[in-house]
Amino acid sequence: MTMPQGRLTDGSGNNNPVTKVVCVGRNYAEHATELNNPVPSHPLVFIKPPSAVAELETGVTLPERDEPVHYETELALLIGQRLSHASEDDVDDAVIGLGLALDLTLRETQSRLKQEGHPWEIAKAFDGACPLSAFIPRHQFPATWRFQFSLHINGEPCQHGDTAQMLKPIPALVSYMSEHFTLAPGDVVLTGTPAGVGKLAPGDALTLTLEDRLSIETTVS
Ligand code: ZN
Repeated sequence: MTMPQGRLTDGSGNNNPVTKVVCVGRNYAEHATELNNPVPSHPLVFIKPPSAVAELETGVTLPERDEPVHYETELALLIGQRLSHASEDDVDDAVIGLGLALDLTLRETQSRLKQEGHPWEIAKAFDGACPLSAFIPRHQFPATWRFQFSLHINGEPCQHGDTAQMLKPIPALVSYMSEHFTLAPGDVVLTGTPAGVGKLAPGDALTLTLEDRLSIETTVS
């Protein structure tokens, strides 16, 4: 397969493949509660492989499974420098783009595997499980890590994220991830989903926004 790349909207700078997408579960307390999960004491980190990456703008293709696929709308970070045991300052310097992602999830499979005490990769890391937008260059945003993002489905508001509500703020989160996995230039970090997750159906029209910088209309098939 060709390795996917994080696309920067101004065409600048990133010629590196996505070698992995590092994700966090339950980084917003209200989302943990809606699934009856305890709020974790440490970030619950997992990885999606390059084969999970798809282009969000061209449509979301649901996998052929006999169970519903859930959306989780998340702020995505494009990494531009190698990070290993990184400080929060290192993280500040290393993020070169901000975008949006859907962390697609087979919730029934995930719940079953969790109950059985097994890893839940097949519920989160399947082909196409990570539709990714193009990335807006980091310098086009204010230097803070405070961002708002949203998902509408068929015109109805479904999710609203405010990074101020994160249990682990972005610099601390990425620093923690880098203690476990070296992040390479081109890698992507998903920062967790706010409350409001639910099912996708073929034909759904999705609108995703990040501040007033990014607005994506896409459809589910
Ligand atoms: Zn997620």
